[in-house]
Amino acid sequence: MQLDFSELFLSGDVNYARDDLPLGALLRYIGFTPDDDMEELGRYISGRMIEAAFYIDRYARPQLAARGVLGNRLNSVWLSPDHRRILQELQDFGTVWKSIESGDMKYHFVSGYLISDSGIFCTLTLTAQTAYALRKYGSSSLKGSYLGRYTDRENPWYGATYYSETQGGSDLGAGETKAVEDGGAWKLTGHEKYFASNAGIADGAIVTARPEGAAAGAKGIAVFFVPAKREGGEDNYSVRRLKDKLGTISVPTGEVELEDSEGFLLGERGKGIYYAMEILSVSRIDDALAAAGIGRKALWEAYRFACRRSAFGRRIIEHPLLARDFIEMEADLEAALALSLVAAKHFSDSSESVPPYDDSYHFARMLTHIAKNMASEVGAEVTKYAMEIMGGRGFLSEYPIEKFHRDELVTSIWEGTSNIQALDLLELMVKKGTHELLYTSLAQIVARCNDRELKDAMEKALERTRAEVARMMQSASPEFYGKDILRALGSVAAAIYLQDASSAQGGDVLKDMARTYIERHLAGKSASPDILSRSAGLEWMDGGKATHE
Ligand SMILES: Cc1cc2nc3c(=O)[nH]c(=O)nc-3n(C[C@H](O)[C@H](O)[C@H](O)COP(=O)(O)OP(=O)(O)OC[C@H]3O[C@@H](n4cnc5c(N)ncnc54)[C@H](O)[C@@H]3O)c2cc1C
Repeated sequence: MQLDFSELFLSGDVNYARDDLPLGALLRYIGFTPDDDMEELGRYISGRMIEAAFYIDRYARPQLAARGVLGNRLNSVWLSPDHRRILQELQDFGTVWKSIESGDMKYHFVSGYLISDSGIFCTLTLTAQTAYALRKYGSSSLKGSYLGRYTDRENPWYGATYYSETQGGSDLGAGETKAVEDGGAWKLTGHEKYFASNAGIADGAIVTARPEGAAAGAKGIAVFFVPAKREGGEDNYSVRRLKDKLGTISVPTGEVELEDSEGFLLGERGKGIYYAMEILSVSRIDDALAAAGIGRKALWEAYRFACRRSAFGRRIIEHPLLARDFIEMEADLEAALALSLVAAKHFSDSSESVPPYDDSYHFARMLTHIAKNMASEVGAEVTKYAMEIMGGRGFLSEYPIEKFHRDELVTSIWEGTSNIQALDLLELMVKKGTHELLYTSLAQIVARCNDRELKDAMEKALERTRAEVARMMQSASPEFYGKDILRALGSVAAAIYLQDASSAQGGDVLKDMARTYIERHLAGKSASPDILSRSAGLEWMDGGKATHE
């Protein structure tokens, strides 16, 4: 007799693509139509991937295979056969190749929300990032040799980004890896690539290094594609060890040592830091969407639990205190998702722009910083509280809910911490004035709102935010206020996009939550028990009647 996983996980029958009604409305808002593969992916994730990922996390984590039986040095990571299979199956859904071949990153980004497992999806994010960089900045001969390997259907390659070094994760300019040009070929040497996810499974990586004679700091950084094997077949770099981590267990994160490793320069030498940041934007959007996606899975599971568990003579979902929490979390989650999807759309639309870039790219980058911060904060709040809703069981490692929380916590750290998102945002504001574009665009959206009360609240909030941000920017230390600015812009932009999506798409689900979000975060209105009627708009998570169409 086999274990029935639905005894451990109540959401096993969910189709995360088709059944997620707010997602459907928001995808229509950004003009994205999921295809049959994506619908199938939504079912695959609940029916197959979550169980496998949970098992890998607990019992079958990746191992470094350091030596062959004859004593030869290996730099490979051993994944369980089922782990390899699910990665291949997720690739079969087109989570990487569809976007790389079409040049439209939305398919990849949306699949990130659906998969959202920080470990499993990290492997695919890094692969998409590598392929994105090769496609956009690789020479035609480099593309000819390697790009097709990343979109291969039978045996696709995996990618990685080796940026962070022991002395500098946030501070990329502190990187000490050196690149030397030797007869037209580049050799990279550096022993401190300290956080290298996909190390040991990646077939090639995007690596930051400083060419000999280049300027100090971030300006001197160049970006290279470094295959895992040299032309002759021997290993091109070594993997020193794998990290022991709180979450993201399924992705091996290692330390990489480069020693005269063959590399191929991407783009132009003096523009490396721009490429590095652009490539990072791909994973920052993935990160924002994954954060919202994990939050959704946790909330969905907690909601189903709350509909089944009783205390004090009624289902816990019927207790006003708990119902209120659900409504507020749902509103925050939908707002974070709306903002992240809008960022994904803008980045995808601007992805042909190259340094020094046009405004569409700067605008997309601005949204990316704001969305990554907001989604990682909201996601962590939601997963933490979803655990609490499940009471003591939420804290047990026997059920996937605690894994959702562990996996969520990394989303505010990797690809640049929240402080770094704030600093990058400030730089964009000072150098490019991108916030003015945001204000103009948000004001245009607010102008078409037909609900007088909401319109008034959004107009006032936008004006207030504008004045507060200006005050902070003109202060003696705008840096001090960096995260206040990030959060203030996040709240107002997310509210306006969510409200606009709700009126563009009609229906009750987004409408109720847009109103809840605006009342709570923009209008500063205290919650009243009247909002409890909005809990009907959550019933879709437990097979209830869809009320939004
Ligand atoms: C599981 C995992 C996987 C990872 N995978 C990869 C990978 O595949 N490739 C890769 O390149 N990197 C990877 N990273 C590294 C990750 O991107 C870095 O850890 C992150 O960017 C922070 O860098 P750091 O750890 O060096 O911290 P530091 O840069 O030392 O920062 C420490 C603290 O100081 C703060 N800080 C730094 N500078 C400032 C400032 N000017 N103002 C205010 N606060 C500041 C930071 O916000 C942070 O809170 C991974 C990390 C983790 C945890």
